[in-house]
Amino acid sequence: MKITLLGTGVAIPQKDRVQSGLMVEAGVDRGCSPVLFDCGCGVLQRIFESGYKHIEITNVFLSHLHLDHCGDVLALVKANWLCEVTKLNLWGPVGTGQWLDELLVAYPYMQDKAEITITELTPGQWLEVEGLEVECVRTVHALPSLGFKVTAWGKSMLYSGDTEPVVDIIDAIEASDGVDLLIHECSFPDTFDVTNHTTPGTLAGMLKGTSVGRIILTHLYPHTRGFETEMVKVVAEACGCPVEIGHDLQVIEI
Ligand SMILES: [Zn+2]
Ligand SMILES: [Zn+2]
Repeated sequence: MKITLLGTGVAIPQKDRVQSGLMVEAGVDRGCSPVLFDCGCGVLQRIFESGYKHIEITNVFLSHLHLDHCGDVLALVKANWLCEVTKLNLWGPVGTGQWLDELLVAYPYMQDKAEITITELTPGQWLEVEGLEVECVRTVHALPSLGFKVTAWGKSMLYSGDTEPVVDIIDAIEASDGVDLLIHECSFPDTFDVTNHTTPGTLAGMLKGTSVGRIILTHLYPHTRGFETEMVKVVAEACGCPVEIGHDLQVIEI
């Protein structure tokens, strides 16, 4: 399984980080197209920069409907339509259908250009898309949200989306006797007291004793700049596995 971090940032712009998005691929050589998880502003450009073609993307999963996770969805639809690709499967939490309907009201010229199939997902649901087995995991955020555990060829990855530390992520990890890679949000350093998000200390507390092969911290607010070493240390001490700060266009093979 190949994972490409497209955007590791948040709603506030910062150097070298666009908003949230990652590409997951079971293997193009096995006939599986890449699948996009989250599509915040800047992700469409990163798809191009990563070497993927936007017209390959016909499956998009959204962790939730905050703009920094879905702001480029319509831009992707338009780019594909201009290249004569009109079909898109859009998977997201409850409310995704209403969100897209209302968005398209503002863009009537797009309404008959795209054939978008929306599937609203709930925690615990399993699907298979392009060789990836996707399990929806309950997360806790300011609005309906999901994490995704993705398995292919015996390897597994869990992407948290935006969330407070939540036991459901631990349960999902333990249900498969661990995961090879955890991509977890770590929005702020521990000097901030936050809700709806995770800090190194709260992530460390949540993960203690859990079997994870490697952890990449993502969804980094500008406030984390200068705290990276400390953030990695706090999480690594609790988990005993390699921990790193993610960066845009980073490629991970598991
Ligand atoms: Zn959010
Ligand atoms: Zn976010």
